[in-house]
Amino acid sequence: MQKKVVILGGGESGAGAAILAKSKGFDVFLSDKGQLHQKYIDILERENIPFEQGQHSEKKILDCDLVVKSPGIPDTVPLIIALREKSIPVISEIEFASRYTDAKLIAITGSNGKTTTTLLTYHLLKNAGLNVGLAGNIGDSFAWQVAEKQFDYYVLEISSFQLDNIIDFHPYISIILNITPDHLDRYGYSFQNYVDSKFNIIRNQTASDRLIYFEESEVIQTELNKRKPAVGTLGISLATELEAGSYLKDGKLVSKINGRIFSQDFSELPIKGPHNAINAMAAISVAQLVGLDSAQISEGLKSFSNAPHRLEQVEVINGVTFVNDSKATNVDSVFYALGSFDQPVILIAGGVDKGNDYSQIEELVRKKVKGLIVLGKSFEKLKDYFSGIVPQIFTTGDIREAVAKGQEWGVPGDIVLLSPACASFDLFKNYEDRGDQFKAAVKNLVSQ
Ligand code: ADP
Repeated sequence: MQKKVVILGGGESGAGAAILAKSKGFDVFLSDKGQLHQKYIDILERENIPFEQGQHSEKKILDCDLVVKSPGIPDTVPLIIALREKSIPVISEIEFASRYTDAKLIAITGSNGKTTTTLLTYHLLKNAGLNVGLAGNIGDSFAWQVAEKQFDYYVLEISSFQLDNIIDFHPYISIILNITPDHLDRYGYSFQNYVDSKFNIIRNQTASDRLIYFEESEVIQTELNKRKPAVGTLGISLATELEAGSYLKDGKLVSKINGRIFSQDFSELPIKGPHNAINAMAAISVAQLVGLDSAQISEGLKSFSNAPHRLEQVEVINGVTFVNDSKATNVDSVFYALGSFDQPVILIAGGVDKGNDYSQIEELVRKKVKGLIVLGKSFEKLKDYFSGIVPQIFTTGDIREAVAKGQEWGVPGDIVLLSPACASFDLFKNYEDRGDQFKAAVKNLVSQ
C-alpha cells in the first residue's frame, strides 16, 4: 500500500517536500493552518497534490505514516503532541530531502553568520566549476531541488528549527559558527535546549566527516569537551595560530588543512569585520576540504558579493558613510558590526526587543558610538540603558528622521550605522523592508 505523508506548512519548504514526496510515490496531503501563497497553490494544483488551508483536519493528519513539518511550527502545538503520542514520525524538510540524494552535504549553522557563510561557500565551490546546489533556509527548497536536479554537493543553511527534527541527516562537513541566545521562546527558555538543537548537526557524523567550528566560542568548546564527538574537528581562530585549521594572523587569513596551506590578505575581500573573517575562514576550510586549489579559492573570495542588509555600504554623503546592517536583529550581531569600524559611529538601533541584554555591547558603545538614534515604538529600554554612556540620544519612530539626524550629527569620516539589535515588526514588515526604507531615506538625502 502507498505510504501516506502529510506535509504541515505550505511555504517554500513544505511545497518542495510535497513535490518530492509525490515524485517518490507517496500518497501526499499538505495542510496549512494559515493561507497559502498563490504561487504554491498553483504548483500544488498543477502537480495534483491535495491540500487544505486555514485549518488542520486532525483526523486525516493523524492517519498518516510520516509527517514533514515546516520549521515555523513549534513542537509544542497540540497537533504535534498528538502525532507523537501516536508514534507517527515528525521530521523536518532537510531530513526528508536528505533521504533521497547521494550528494555530499555541507551544512552550516550558528546563531549569526549562516547566510553569509553559506553564500560564500557556495560561491567558492560554484566558481571553481563544481556541480553544487544552494538550499536550506535560503533560496529554493532543498526537497524541491532533490526532486528535480542532480547535484554532487549541496551547501545548506540550517536553522535550529530544521535541526530539531532530524533522524539520519548526515552532512559530510558541518559548520557551527557560534551559539548565542536566540529564539529561546521556542526552547522552553532554556539556552541548553537551543545549544543541543544546534549540536544535532553532528549527531550522525563519523570520524571521516568534519566539523568546522569557531574556537573562541566558549559555548562550543564546553559542548565539545562534554560530548567528545567522533567527528574530526577543524577550528577557526581570530586569536591563535592553529596547527591544523584556519586563523587570522597579521591581517592574513591562513588555512592549514590536509597538509595544504592557503593564505590571503583579508583586506582584499569585499566583506569586512572580524565576524566576516570567521565566516570567510569557515568557507575557505570547506573549499580546502573539497580540494579546491589556492588560485580558485582566492579568485572566489575576491569576486564574492554578499546578500544585502549585512553591513552593506549604501552611500558616502559629505564624507559620512551610511551602512545598512538591518539583518542585525540581536545584540551579538551589533557587537560584531561595531567591531568592524575604527571610525566614530552614529548608531541607529531599536525595534522589538526580544529580551536583549545590552551589557555585551556597553564597552564598545562607550568607545565608538558618538550618538545613538533609537528607532522604534518601544524605545525606553535602549534609551535608559545608554543614557550617560553615549553623549547624545535621539528617539524617533520615523526612519527618514533617523537618517536626517545621522547626517546632522555626522562629520567627515563618521559612520552612520543601522544595526538595530531588535526585530523590525513594530514599524516595518521585516528586516528587508527596514533596510530598504533606510536605503531609500539615504538615497533621498543624496538627491536633495
Ligand atoms: P544569519 O543567516 O545567521 O542570520 P547573516 O549572515 O545573515 O546570518 O548575518 C546576520 C548578521 O549577523 C550580520 O548583519 C552581522 O551583523 C552578524 N554576523 C554575521 N556573521 C557573524 C558571525 N560569524 N558572528 C557574529 N555575528 C555575525
